[in-house]
Amino acid sequence: MQIDPIPAFEDNYIWAIRKAGKVAVVDPGETAPVLRFLEQSGDTLCAILVTHRHGDHIGGIAELTRRHPVPVYGPAREVAEVVTHPLTDGDRVTVLDAGFEVLELPGHTLDHIAFYRPGTLFCGDTLFGAGCGRVFEGTLAQMHASLARLAALPPDTQIYCAHEYTQACLRFAKTVEPANATIDARIKAVAIQRAGGQPSVPATLAEELATNPFLRWQAPGVIATATARLGHAPANDAETFAAIRIYRDSL
Ligand code: ZN
Ligand code: FE
Repeated sequence: MQIDPIPAFEDNYIWAIRKAGKVAVVDPGETAPVLRFLEQSGDTLCAILVTHRHGDHIGGIAELTRRHPVPVYGPAREVAEVVTHPLTDGDRVTVLDAGFEVLELPGHTLDHIAFYRPGTLFCGDTLFGAGCGRVFEGTLAQMHASLARLAALPPDTQIYCAHEYTQACLRFAKTVEPANATIDARIKAVAIQRAGGQPSVPATLAEELATNPFLRWQAPGVIATATARLGHAPANDAETFAAIRIYRDSL
């Protein structure tokens, strides 16, 4: 199994899971880049995976399935019109002989899911490089619980998120935790990747745990910033996360 990015819009990645001339795509928000990829690679589209119903993740599905009638695996709630195989927490999906477990991760949207198999996570807009998705529908406590679930996965898990937001997220991470030297190192590494036209994702969960302020609710520097924002010490991890997310939204 090989995984390639298909860039879409300004900063989306549609992930292409490839094996033996077949490909499944994750979150095809646009049709044209996927059709170009199929033409250039010679791969046959065999499945579509969807994490949530935002247009930049599902916009290409109708046209793709009109041309290639493939199964569409996605959240059971709220995307019914494009999803042929509705999924809920704990369901298993087999794509190109690889089994994925479905994780429900409410927060960015209430219906958001991720696809996980050891070593690989497709997490849509829940976790980004050094960042996390905005909480549009769920509560901050729900988003914290969803991120805590991801934080507990094996550290070598590669995080295939749906956007190239890492540089902006790292600038905020540095603001939250100015003394974290691992953030400085990642800022340098990502600058080189981006200057060379390379994606900054996937990164491993271990890298995220070391640099992502939205997973570092137990780091003293993050707690200090949350305390300053709140005017009192946060009562628990969820309150620390919430203070940092609200800080991000205020900028
Ligand atoms: Zn989204
Ligand atoms: Fe998105």
